[in-house]
Amino acid sequence: MTTRRPVTPEPIPMVDVTAQYVRLKEELDAAVSTVLASGRFILGPNVQAFEEEAAQYLGVAHAVAVASGTDALHLALVAAGIGPGDEVITTPFTFIATAEAIRYVGARPVFVDIDPRTFNLDVQHLESALTPATRAVLPVHLFGQPADMGRITAFCDRHDLILIEDCAQSFGATWGDRQTGSLGDFGCFSFFPSKNLGGCGDGGLITTASAEQAEHLRALRNHGSRRYAHHDEIGFNSRLDELQAAILRVKLRHIEAFNDARRGAARRYGEWLGNLPLILPYEDPAGRHVYHQFTLLLSERDAVREKLTQADIASMIYYPLPLHRQIVFRQDYVGLSLPIVESVAQRCLSLPIYPEIGDARIERVAKTLQSAF
Ligand SMILES: *Cc1c(COP(=O)(O)O)cnc(C)c1O
Repeated sequence: MTTRRPVTPEPIPMVDVTAQYVRLKEELDAAVSTVLASGRFILGPNVQAFEEEAAQYLGVAHAVAVASGTDALHLALVAAGIGPGDEVITTPFTFIATAEAIRYVGARPVFVDIDPRTFNLDVQHLESALTPATRAVLPVHLFGQPADMGRITAFCDRHDLILIEDCAQSFGATWGDRQTGSLGDFGCFSFFPSKNLGGCGDGGLITTASAEQAEHLRALRNHGSRRYAHHDEIGFNSRLDELQAAILRVKLRHIEAFNDARRGAARRYGEWLGNLPLILPYEDPAGRHVYHQFTLLLSERDAVREKLTQADIASMIYYPLPLHRQIVFRQDYVGLSLPIVESVAQRCLSLPIYPEIGDARIERVAKTLQSAF
């Protein structure tokens, strides 16, 4: 007689990058072996081809591949000539890298409160954040949802400010008929493995309409060199490598399918969770949200999260502490009160979402949430 063990369901992770590898194994293995056999690992044909293919997909004139999304932001700020004494208006509800990059160049991040529906920088605070030192605005298209680029570009035009988009979470998101990263002076992308277009290591990309700036960025990423063994300025070692570029070229061919699957998963979540006492992600009809994260607002967050954990379902709090409250920044923002972001940080909860998640896992997450209320 056989004894039946109770079926323990598989854990559900936040992201499953292995599922994507399994799906694209043949293409990825071939791309990687070709690079290995070629012996060219830095600034070779794959980086160039990836830059061209990404520029075409994003609808921009130039794309410059760099070593990470953080470097993309840093180099864009350097290229924009932003430095000590300058102020950059940005959001406190983002990954630390957004503000870190502003500090790398010696400038001051000026944090404004967020829109409680989109979680993006609230454009109604732009005017009051403006000072004679303001040089740039750095919106983040958080969780894959474009910021209000109509009003942000108008504000930047009116006040002659540089516009740098943090597109680390928004590869493939659109505003009107344009891709994020094509709307400002610079677009900064990350290919960290869990991003919508993710490599197998670190990587980043800067987009620009300016041929002159593209050339400058190519020098900056390679020790300030425009010509072999000649250095005109202090630059960086910040190149995307050939292996990552070859991998990203394969994945770029599938990005529409990945993002469609994320949107499909978000729709399924919405159908399951619509009747619960929580706030579902809002989609600004002016844009196409690509659901880097699927983020809810709910008051009993920590108790609900505990139920998910007990059911072996991952969840994350993006972000528990707004940037102006972080130890690294808070002494510079004493007395700054940003009530919306502070309230959102107490109530936000991100659920697992990735292209391969599938209806069965979504159903299990949803039923666990239903039973938690
Ligand atoms: C991931 C991320 C970055 C940094 O990208 P890395 O490639 O990890 O350096 C910057 N900004 C935001 C909003 C991000 O999510």
